[in-house]
Amino acid sequence: MIVSKFGGSSLAASAQIKKVTKIIASDERRKIVVVSAPGKRNNDDIKITDMLYTCHTEAAAGKSIDASFGSIRERYLTIAKDLGLNLDHIGGELDLIEANILQGCSSTADYAASRGEYLCAILLADYMGWDFIDTEGLIVIADDGSVDPVTFELLGEKLAASEKGCVVPGFYGSTKEGVIKTFTRGGSDITGAIASRASGAELYENWTDVSGILMADPRIVTDPKPIRELTYEEVRELASIGAAVFHEEAIAPVRESGIPIQIKNTNRPQDEGTRILSHRDDRLQPMIGVSGKKGYTRLYVKKLFLQKDPNFIIKISTILRVYGINPEFSSIGFDSISLFFKAGENFRQEEILTRILTELKPDEMSSDTRIAMIGIVGEGLYDTKGIIARVSTAISESGISARYLNYGGSLITCIIGVDDADYLKALEAIYSAIS
Ligand code: ASP
Repeated sequence: MIVSKFGGSSLAASAQIKKVTKIIASDERRKIVVVSAPGKRNNDDIKITDMLYTCHTEAAAGKSIDASFGSIRERYLTIAKDLGLNLDHIGGELDLIEANILQGCSSTADYAASRGEYLCAILLADYMGWDFIDTEGLIVIADDGSVDPVTFELLGEKLAASEKGCVVPGFYGSTKEGVIKTFTRGGSDITGAIASRASGAELYENWTDVSGILMADPRIVTDPKPIRELTYEEVRELASIGAAVFHEEAIAPVRESGIPIQIKNTNRPQDEGTRILSHRDDRLQPMIGVSGKKGYTRLYVKKLFLQKDPNFIIKISTILRVYGINPEFSSIGFDSISLFFKAGENFRQEEILTRILTELKPDEMSSDTRIAMIGIVGEGLYDTKGIIARVSTAISESGISARYLNYGGSLITCIIGVDDADYLKALEAIYSAIS
């Protein structure tokens, strides 16, 4: 049995929904479908979820939601009409949601935002004649956003009871107290992973508008190669260094039960896509991708015998934490330490440096706010000879100075720091060295 999750672009209009139902019908193992809310139909369009957040903000400020909710109503009714559905069901649901948002009784931002997926699942279930399974009360989300394990039992039972097939709304569940709560943005991927684990699926398909994950960002690197296979760990590492590949919280539920994820393109179902699994043979392709982020600050502090005084490092971290700073990368030397972090807009550089100076009396200290961090990721990094040599040659041949080079916390990622100004050039050079 396969769980198929369709993203917002796959459900943006009736023509897309017809493609979706064709895909579902082409394999009888596809019995559980998880949906996002309708996304953008073109670049100037607005996602339904964003429109719902706007409605909530307007209603909370005592403003009229006639225009904003009117656009949402029109989007759903147009889709329903185009699909030849009776408009009473969806129309009634829309009336109720509008009243709830206006009344303020059920009107949290999470309630409003969740209705995009709710309505979309009802629409698709009506169109296919399948069961609609609401996740309210079945997916239990804790305050910190984690999934209560009782979810797998509750949802699993409902999914198993559906004989003809079912449509499940993504993105939300409810708290233990029964209040609707959403995951973070893009969270329908998490619902898909939860439904896969709860139903013991053999495969979790994630249908989107690209034919899988690419080795690098195509806006930076020309025509990057697609990745056919990568491991759960590689996905998490790539996401941690900025690649928008797959919702990082969606890995955990499937990883624990070893269910593979297949990323596919709704507009080109014949394309192979990308498979995410527990293990892969890394001999043919040791490295699977490169990604990075600009705008890191490097804080460099030097003090004789620093390494022998663990309190010194604790004190620096404590000062940084007071300012909400949590270093992402660090390097500790004999007499010095370098910490790298995203400082954010309210970075109080002077104040922090003065505090470190007065409280810790370092011999030397500096901070540089224009560092980019680039990560190269691959299960073959540690055991394949020559990768770092190729990457550093490519960087130096491009006339770029590496400001930092280190294995990340994991053995499958190497982090390279360069000046922000060299970021794009470095990324291209590194990509050609590993692809
Ligand atoms: N509709 C939600 C969002 O726009 C969740 C999702 O699409 O996965 O973030």
